[in-house]
Amino acid sequence: MTTKDSSKSAIIDFSQPVRLESIPENRILEACLGEQTAILIRDGDSLTLLSGRCTHAGGPLAEGILADGHIRCPWHHACFDAKTGEAVAAPAFDPLERWALRIDNGMVSVDHKEAAPGLTRAAPETAAPYVIIGGGAAGFAAAEMLSHEGHAGDVVLISREGAGPYDRTMLSKDYLGGKLGEEQLPLHSQAFGPGARRSGGRVDLGSEVEKIDRAAHRVILADGQEIAYSKLLLATGAEPRQPTFPGHDLPHVHVLRSLADCRALIDHAGKARRAVILGASFIGLEAAASLRERGLEIDIVATGSLPMERLFGRELGEALRALHENHGNRFHFGRTILSVEKDHVLLDDGSVLAADLVLVGIGVEPRLDLARAAGVEVGDGVIVDEYLATSDPDIYAAGDIASWPDPHSGRRLRVEHWDVAERQGQVAAKNMMGAAVPFKDVPFFWTRQFDFSLSYIGHAQQWDRIDIDGDPSSGDSTLRYISEGQVIAAAMIGRDEECLRERERMEHILAA
Ligand SMILES: Cc1cc2nc3c(=O)[nH]c(=O)nc-3n(C[C@H](O)[C@H](O)[C@H](O)COP(=O)(O)OP(=O)(O)OC[C@H]3O[C@@H](n4cnc5c(N)ncnc54)[C@H](O)[C@@H]3O)c2cc1C
Repeated sequence: MTTKDSSKSAIIDFSQPVRLESIPENRILEACLGEQTAILIRDGDSLTLLSGRCTHAGGPLAEGILADGHIRCPWHHACFDAKTGEAVAAPAFDPLERWALRIDNGMVSVDHKEAAPGLTRAAPETAAPYVIIGGGAAGFAAAEMLSHEGHAGDVVLISREGAGPYDRTMLSKDYLGGKLGEEQLPLHSQAFGPGARRSGGRVDLGSEVEKIDRAAHRVILADGQEIAYSKLLLATGAEPRQPTFPGHDLPHVHVLRSLADCRALIDHAGKARRAVILGASFIGLEAAASLRERGLEIDIVATGSLPMERLFGRELGEALRALHENHGNRFHFGRTILSVEKDHVLLDDGSVLAADLVLVGIGVEPRLDLARAAGVEVGDGVIVDEYLATSDPDIYAAGDIASWPDPHSGRRLRVEHWDVAERQGQVAAKNMMGAAVPFKDVPFFWTRQFDFSLSYIGHAQQWDRIDIDGDPSSGDSTLRYISEGQVIAAAMIGRDEECLRERERMEHILAA
């Protein structure tokens, strides 16, 4: 059940006792303790006072919804247990702070702050560790869930990248735009590193798994080291499609997937004046906005006739086009790059664009080689069942590589969304430990370009019509994608609470 009265109620101030009778039930109430923002939830005589900012990105939880005993954050849909404040679903991993309350003669006051719940670990096992290949969204979330669930054995997370797990979604947004420092990118870990709440985790950074020997239950690293596993999670993500046009290997031509890619791009952007971006999908458009905010002149070259029209339809494509053009970015539709020279780009209609920076954002390919070579079943992704197990019952897959049976559409899906990757990592981790939790989440992603913020729920490859409420260019609009009379996906612009409710509605259709 969802409960939140969107009508604004007064902030409940716990600097002095509060009358129990005055506290409404079963909704998220905004509260405060001095300077501290908090939320209060009342269920009969049971009251829970929790910190009011999401531990993922600081979203205002008072603007979220209460559904099925969980508080859902309006920004990126992280879920917290409404009684304990524990983070129960990504993208948040740290619990909310919690205060014990006292009720005397119908008056409620704060007693003390509760200690953060400790993570327990069962007696260490001697079995071979769980090995996670990939330290991105899915691998990180899996490691955190193993830790959270008190997995007894050791966990080894192996990542090709030199950097520990970090927020990849910020690369093309505030980090590239110069609004976020690199120190704010790492994902805070309960499982690994300083401050970890449990031991038994090991991270091998800068290490590449070259082969999986399924018969021997071992992974073999590029440096020849062998690591035995009892269960294995494949979370190798995707890699950018590489350009092949002449000049693609010049130093000012970039792709953007990793922190290392972004550092190189930022380094070049500091010396550049004009950028050409190939591709008008998420990465291209977000980077176009961020580089524009750094003061560069931007030309965007793309096949098609509108940005993201295939995914969002004409109306939203036009809104995105207007958004960028209003900020001075120029589109060149129906075109591609023929070649790149040191200071310009040649397009296929013979036109020349001055450019001292080129970014190629033409999509990604899932990294399937390891799985394929190991003889695990692979289609357009690694084929997993509803529990995210591959054709080998000791090997699971999650994130951008996983092709799972989506119960909402009745089809196999493989998507490239942060939230899906993290939640699949969490579900896979539980199932590696012996649970049987099906992955049933409705796909969700977001994008932010300039001050335009869009959340998308569901998955629509084609639709019969789009029902539009509000003007998509206005920053306040909902587009519902209808197929055979059903809403199969919805895009919300500046309407976070509506997106949460739509997600919950779609989840409940399945549960019914
Ligand atoms: C710039 C950018 C912005 C994005 N913004 C958004 C957004 O706003 N919203 C959204 O929903 N999604 C966004 N995404 C997509 C999202 O980041 C991905 O869907 C998500 O990261 C997928 O997680 P993953 O764990 O499957 O893969 P990844 O996060 O790519 O992690 C895979 C990891 O595995 C490592 N690896 C691969 N092979 C090996 C090997 N053989 N040995 C060891 N390690 C290996 C890789 O180096 C990498 O570290 C964005 C992506 C990018 C690149």
